[in-house]
Amino acid sequence: MSSSKPVVRFAPSPTGRTHLGSGRTALYNYAFARQTGGTFILRIEDTDQKRYVPGAEQELIQSLRWLGLDWDEGPDVGGPHAPYYQSQRREIYQQHAQWLIEHDHAYYCFCSPERLEKARQEQIRLKQNPRYDGTCRRLDPDEAAARAARGERHVIRFKTPQQGSITVRDLLRGEITVENSSLDDYILVKSDGLALYHLAAMVDDHLMGVTHVIRGSEWLSTLPLHGHILRAFGWQEPVFVHLSIFLKPSGKGKMSKRESAEALKDGHSIFISDLKDLGYLPEGVVNWIALMGWSYDDHTEFFTLQDIVEKFSLEKLNPSPAAINFTKLDHFNGLHIRRLPPEELARRMKPFLLQAGYTVDDERLVKIAPLVQERLVTLDEAPQWVGFFFQDDVAPKPQELVGAKMTPQESAQAARRALAVLESLPAITLELAEPPMRALAEELGLQAGQLFGILRVAVTGQKVSPPLFESMEIIGKEKTLQRLRKAISLLDELS
Ligand code: GLU
Repeated sequence: MSSSKPVVRFAPSPTGRTHLGSGRTALYNYAFARQTGGTFILRIEDTDQKRYVPGAEQELIQSLRWLGLDWDEGPDVGGPHAPYYQSQRREIYQQHAQWLIEHDHAYYCFCSPERLEKARQEQIRLKQNPRYDGTCRRLDPDEAAARAARGERHVIRFKTPQQGSITVRDLLRGEITVENSSLDDYILVKSDGLALYHLAAMVDDHLMGVTHVIRGSEWLSTLPLHGHILRAFGWQEPVFVHLSIFLKPSGKGKMSKRESAEALKDGHSIFISDLKDLGYLPEGVVNWIALMGWSYDDHTEFFTLQDIVEKFSLEKLNPSPAAINFTKLDHFNGLHIRRLPPEELARRMKPFLLQAGYTVDDERLVKIAPLVQERLVTLDEAPQWVGFFFQDDVAPKPQELVGAKMTPQESAQAARRALAVLESLPAITLELAEPPMRALAEELGLQAGQLFGILRVAVTGQKVSPPLFESMEIIGKEKTLQRLRKAISLLDELS
């Protein structure tokens, strides 16, 4: 790998389920790496043991793989910078923290949580910004080192410069300057000896040769601290790119837990694994999230993952917040469903049919797929559209068999005539059945829709279905006639 190629990383913390924001950050990192021939690293930032959620990492990897992403280095694939779990890199951070102490960029702090809390309350009372009051910053370094060596409980704090300012750069927002006096002496290593994210991430990014840090904008506020840490080490700064935040569909604020639960009732979710279960294609989700914060031009909206790899550019990322729009997700999902070859659509629909309890005949499903390809929005609608193909029998509601603006008797009569015509055909296909059925409707003084409506409910058991005659063709003549006969007797009972 030539050193001039970009190296990017996606560095999630396994603290919960994988949501859109993580999916999008991973996608952009992936696209950038694949386009440039660079390296994409997956790093698990599990230093915060309190927030660790067992199973989150497996869920994350499955979600990313489902989206179609892969990475060159990571916990599951290995690589030259292993381990890729921060919890296994404890000594590396310790050594770097020591280096910072030795070079006067960090110091031991022995303040008890109680004392810190008292000082904080006092600052709040005086209407000052709560921050560390600097007690241990003033300790003699040798004495402090001796206390730490004796095992006195301590944390390690960064010695943030107190004068002047720091200017950091975000690719999308330009230069950001903050007064050092507004920054705190942040904790780098906790009393349990584990590094905090700020130190761990900067050390890892450096050791892993990361050239571009593409991450969520919640980290923008700590960018000055990260700048200070990198400068204290004398390391080259990567290009920082902070992505836009997601807002709830109304555009007002972030999506809450309650709102996520409500979205789910509507068949939508902000979690990747839910979207899979709800019948979204990874292609649709990828297309949707790609455009929440990035655009290619002002009109192209259909993108496959490959398109995104080809067309992606960091410069076209948009830092403005993006409101989550589930209608768009449905739209993109539909577009991608239309593009699947029938075999593939059948393959994707199958699990949803099986889950609904149908026994699925693959060959038949491939024939059925094109009939619903234009109509499906999500794959989980498949059972309601095509389930009747896999039932021995359908159970239409007698009332629904009655044709529009017709009586049950008239409907039964029309159905009887249709039955006679269909019986006489060598087979029921679109070509053979449709013309005589239209002629029959005319003869009976009916709109084609009135007659077809009766036949549709009779044969499919439902008022909305895939195209009628193509459906009859797949169901087969014998079963079609059998269903029609049953419908006639149901109508007779109504009369
Ligand atoms: N572990 C951080 C998170 O999950 C990653 C931030 C970063 O990419 O630097 O948000």
